[in-house]
Amino acid sequence: MAWVKMFKKPGGGLQKSYQPGSMLSLALSKGLLNEPGQNSCFLNSAVQVLWQLDIFRRSFRQLSGHFCLGDACIFCALKSIFSQFQQSRERVLPSDSLRNALAETFKDEQRFQLGLMDDAAECFENILERIHLHIVSDTVTDGCSSKSCITHQKFAMTLYEQFVCRCCGAFSDPHPFTEFVHYVSTTALCQQVERILAKNERLRSDMFGELLQAANNTGDLRSCPSDCGQSIKIRRVLMNCPEIVTIGFVWDSEQSDLTDDVIRSLGPRLNLCGLFNRVTDENAKRTELHLVGMICFSSKHYSAFAYHTKSSKWMFFDDATVKEVRNFTFNPSFGSKHPLPFTSS
Ligand SMILES: [Zn+2]
Ligand SMILES: [Zn+2]
Ligand SMILES: [Zn+2]
Repeated sequence: MAWVKMFKKPGGGLQKSYQPGSMLSLALSKGLLNEPGQNSCFLNSAVQVLWQLDIFRRSFRQLSGHFCLGDACIFCALKSIFSQFQQSRERVLPSDSLRNALAETFKDEQRFQLGLMDDAAECFENILERIHLHIVSDTVTDGCSSKSCITHQKFAMTLYEQFVCRCCGAFSDPHPFTEFVHYVSTTALCQQVERILAKNERLRSDMFGELLQAANNTGDLRSCPSDCGQSIKIRRVLMNCPEIVTIGFVWDSEQSDLTDDVIRSLGPRLNLCGLFNRVTDENAKRTELHLVGMICFSSKHYSAFAYHTKSSKWMFFDDATVKEVRNFTFNPSFGSKHPLPFTSS
């Protein structure tokens, strides 16, 4: 049912997927190499989701001027993979240039080093942060207003957190911050699912945002700033209207038994008003986002799902392997944490 509205959008349409042109579009989806010992699946999954995100791909294509770091330039390496995705006749491409640039850039921090496995969500987030730095060359990531900075224009959630007492009206100083990935604990999320089911209510697919908000607020109790004796909850207020929202699930262990419950809670649509305590931007209040991509971790390996707009099909990316997903069901063996990008396209 949830899909109907999506397919009714102008430009969507189920029949479109049977037109001959869409076979060509599918052929444009290429795999990425991961030779034994490279451990590049975390990077390959992040790159595939970025490439399939129409808003990102189109905006990134229009950018050229940047502060270049030569061999260690993540911007150039991503450009190079994207142009090969578009132009190469090969079905599978190497991602080495980006892998090397990432390793070189994070050498001092000993992260994303060659041959070592790393975290796909953090990789995704760091690629976005680096794009900001290549365009704006400013280490201050909060309050970036550059029109050409895709990272902030498309992905950033501009928020503030505040404690407000419902009893006496006292409030703490607002704490403003920016995030690219909104992290949620899977344990807290599953507690919220339990809470709904315990009340004999049905889990509806439009509840996903509310579940995430409730999970995020769980346990975040403080005592009232005016010492009235009340314990009060944190409020998170969204001030902008991000075009792409990415949710990162934080798992308490690699062998989590919460997988089925987490999958049960996933909804294909996300309302920003549900996700945050308050939304101030008028567009953001009306915005409904659709699930378009997912990075999963299972058996110490990352793979990705992404929605291919031109063919209206879900695709599965596992390094060199690219498959069309015929009946989209969620992989029942997730582990660790993975980001979920939603877009308002
Ligand atoms: Zn460069
Ligand atoms: Zn920026
Ligand atoms: Zn109070």
